[in-house]
Amino acid sequence: MAEVLVYVDHVDGAVRKPTLELLTLARRVGEPVAVALGNGAGDTVAALAEHGAVKVLTHEAAEYTDYLVVPKVDALQAAVAAVSPAAVLVPSSAEGKEIAARLALRLGSGVITDAVDLEAGDEGPVATQSVFAAAFTTKSRVSKGTPVITVKPNSAAVEAAPAAGAVEALNVSFSAAATGTKVTSRTPRESSGRPELTEAAIVVSGGRGVNGAENFAIIEALADSLGAAVGASRAAVDAGWYPHTNQVGQTGKSVSPQLYIASGISGAIQHRAGMQTSKTIVAINKDAEAPIFELVDYGVVGDLFDVVPQLTEEVKTRKG
Ligand SMILES: Cc1cc2nc3c(=O)[nH]c(=O)nc-3n(C[C@H](O)[C@H](O)[C@H](O)COP(=O)(O)OP(=O)(O)OC[C@H]3O[C@@H](n4cnc5c(N)ncnc54)[C@H](O)[C@@H]3O)c2cc1C
Repeated sequence: MAEVLVYVDHVDGAVRKPTLELLTLARRVGEPVAVALGNGAGDTVAALAEHGAVKVLTHEAAEYTDYLVVPKVDALQAAVAAVSPAAVLVPSSAEGKEIAARLALRLGSGVITDAVDLEAGDEGPVATQSVFAAAFTTKSRVSKGTPVITVKPNSAAVEAAPAAGAVEALNVSFSAAATGTKVTSRTPRESSGRPELTEAAIVVSGGRGVNGAENFAIIEALADSLGAAVGASRAAVDAGWYPHTNQVGQTGKSVSPQLYIASGISGAIQHRAGMQTSKTIVAINKDAEAPIFELVDYGVVGDLFDVVPQLTEEVKTRKG
C-alpha cells in the first residue's frame, strides 16, 4: 500500500489534535508516515503510533524554531524524496498552508487547501472543499505530481489505530533560503484557558445582540460549561466588545467545529463563510426571521439573556 506523508504539528513533542485527525484521513488513502520536526520531535512518536503512523521520520535542529517556514519545507521535500508518497497531508493553519504551497511549488505538484474531507480515488486522493462562502461543496483531485493537501481542523474524528510507529531519522540538508527569515522574538499569548478557536470541537459565539463587552461574560460562561472556545461576529469585534483574534468569518477565522452556537448573530454571508462547515449549528436569536435560522440544525427564538444562562445551568447540571 502506498505511503502517505503527514506533517506533524506539535509543541515541544505534544501532538496537536488536527494532526491526529490527519492520521485518520491518511489511513483512507494509504499507510501514514508522520514527519515530526524540531524540538521534541522524538516525543511525538507514542501519540503518532497510537493513531496509525506506521513510521515516524524525525529531525531535530535549531533551524525549525529559529527561522520561519523554509527549514520545514526543506525537510518535507527530503521526506518526499525518501518515501515517494501517494500524497502529503498538512494541517490547514496559516503556517501549514504556506508550507504546503512552497512544497507543491518545489515538487511541481498541484496543491489543494482547506479540504474538509478526503477519500481514496482511482487516480489519487479526492478532497472535498467548501467554497464560495460555503455555498458550494466541491470534490477535486490533484492531476499533476504528488498531491499536497491541507485539511481543516475538525474534518475527521481522532481514532486510535495502533501501528508500529517505527522511528527513522530523516536526512535534511537546509537550503540557502532556510535562514532567510529569522525569528527575532517570541511573546506568549495570554492564555484564556480555553481551546484554540480554529481547533476547538465546540465554539460559542456572540454578536451584536450581546450588546456590550461586559455581557460577553454570559457567552464565556456557556463556553466554559462546554469546554468551548469563544467566537464573535465582526459587529461585536468592531464595537470593541471582543478581540479581533476571536472574529469568525470571511475577514476573521474560519472554524469547523462539531458544534457551533451563535447567540445574537444575524447570519450575514460574511459570518457564515467562517462557520458554515460546522457539523451541528445552533442559533439563539430573538428574531424568528433572522437569516441564521436558514442554516441551523437547532434554533431557539428567544432573548439570549434568558436562554444562554439557562442553557449554561442545564449543561452544568447534566455534567453533574
Ligand atoms: C468585506 C466584509 C467582510 C466582513 N467580514 C465579516 C466577518 O469576518 N465576520 C462577521 O461576523 N461579519 C463580517 N462582516 C460583517 C457582516 O456583513 C455583518 O455586518 C456582521 O456579521 C453582523 O454581525 P451580527 O450578526 O453580530 O450583527 P447584526 O447583523 O446586527 O445581528 C444581530 C442579531 O442579534 C439579534 N439580537 C439582538 N438582540 C438579541 C437578544 N437580546 N437575544 C437574541 N438575539 C438578539 C438580532 O435579532 C440580530 O439578528 C463583513 C462585512 C464585509 C462587507
